[in-house]
Amino acid sequence: MVEQKRLLKSAIPGPRSLELHARKSASVASGVGTTLPVYVERAGGGIVVDVDGNQLIDFGSGIAVTSVGNSAPRVVEAVREQVADFTHTCFMVTPYEEYVAVAEKLNELTPGSHEKRSALFNSGAEAVENAVKVARHATGRQAVVAFDHAYHGRTNLTMALTAKNMPYKQGFGPFASEIYRVPMAYPYRWPTGPEHCSDEAFAEFAELVHAQVGEQNTAAVLIEPIQGEGGFIVPAPGFLARVAQWCTEHGIVFIADEIQSGFCRTGDWFACEFEGVVPDLITTAKGIAGGLPLAAVTGRAELMDAVHAGGLGGTYGGNPVACAAALAAIETMAAEDLCGAARRIEAIMRPRLAALAEKFDVIGEVRGRGAMLAVELVDGGGSHAPNPALTAAVSAACHQRGLITLTCGTFGNVLRFLPPLVIGDGLLGEGLGVLEEAFAASV
Ligand SMILES: *Cc1c(COP(=O)(O)O)cnc(C)c1O
Repeated sequence: MVEQKRLLKSAIPGPRSLELHARKSASVASGVGTTLPVYVERAGGGIVVDVDGNQLIDFGSGIAVTSVGNSAPRVVEAVREQVADFTHTCFMVTPYEEYVAVAEKLNELTPGSHEKRSALFNSGAEAVENAVKVARHATGRQAVVAFDHAYHGRTNLTMALTAKNMPYKQGFGPFASEIYRVPMAYPYRWPTGPEHCSDEAFAEFAELVHAQVGEQNTAAVLIEPIQGEGGFIVPAPGFLARVAQWCTEHGIVFIADEIQSGFCRTGDWFACEFEGVVPDLITTAKGIAGGLPLAAVTGRAELMDAVHAGGLGGTYGGNPVACAAALAAIETMAAEDLCGAARRIEAIMRPRLAALAEKFDVIGEVRGRGAMLAVELVDGGGSHAPNPALTAAVSAACHQRGLITLTCGTFGNVLRFLPPLVIGDGLLGEGLGVLEEAFAASV
């Protein structure tokens, strides 16, 4: 295990990272960006070690993926064993138990006690695409409703479902048709104030779908129970449940995209549990397999089984090594109570972030749940105008001091925090200290 300690041996990035970065620029397509060009040699728990020997505190988890920690012991062991047994047969050719066991776990862990089925894929975007395929097939309808600030991936259909143009969509059209966008219940920016947000956003949603799409044409409503890339927006209380209920009334499939918010991240196995919402279909990926590529669609048996045999699948979907990693990651989450760990992380972080917001009025809002927390940065002095320049400056100041932070938000003005759920309290506290220094140095 990597020593759980921040250590700076060179500037960030250091000379060996800079050398590698020059090679990257000359060989890797420049469309593939990097947030922080430190090249990684090892990582474990809450620490990432770079090729110059710097040890950075990880508040990103590779975008909410390594929730069980990097190279988590159970995951390493399971992958070692599986890779030696067999690496691939294609589940659609000659199947294996690991895939079935992951499906059983997903059916058990996702909200609701109804009969469920799962199908496995390689990436989050692929899971979302397949959830839409299932919903369209099962309902015989075509329209899909998505929300402002939504992020669902970078493939053609999921670009259409994603709200933000730069960098995800610019120049990549034409996009898939039959996608309709409605306002998100975004309390901080709701025009008439957060107290009206849930009621008014629901009324607008229902009215727009009725008037511009038609309930009878709508296959699915797709929503992130807490929005990720769009700015860690927590929908106003009650909004999710009303949308889900309305979908049921109209025979529309309610799809929860829990790719970022799932697997203990928000303090429950899934974020929609907090609102008591039982989705018809749920998409998962990111945190599911401790860093190996795996994604899934899980949902009502009658919807999932509506698709003809051979209609869903792919060469690598549910690869045995990724499935072994997922089983080990899920076992780790249960054995180490990582839902509890996420709540403990919130109990430590939220008061520190709130104190920071008291001190710096450029922090417009502290929000999120569990270990999925964020601050939205504004101009301050009473103005809620987004402040992406300061957000980039604070994030860069964190990086220089050895703390990996990520930004997000439609306006690029949200600093988000996604520490591995196994991070120790000491390291978490130190990371927060670095963040406080970065604010003091940048505001
Ligand atoms: C990351 C993400 C996706 C896309 O997942 P990929 O594995 O990058 O394709 C989809 N939805 C949400 C909510 C995400 O956070």
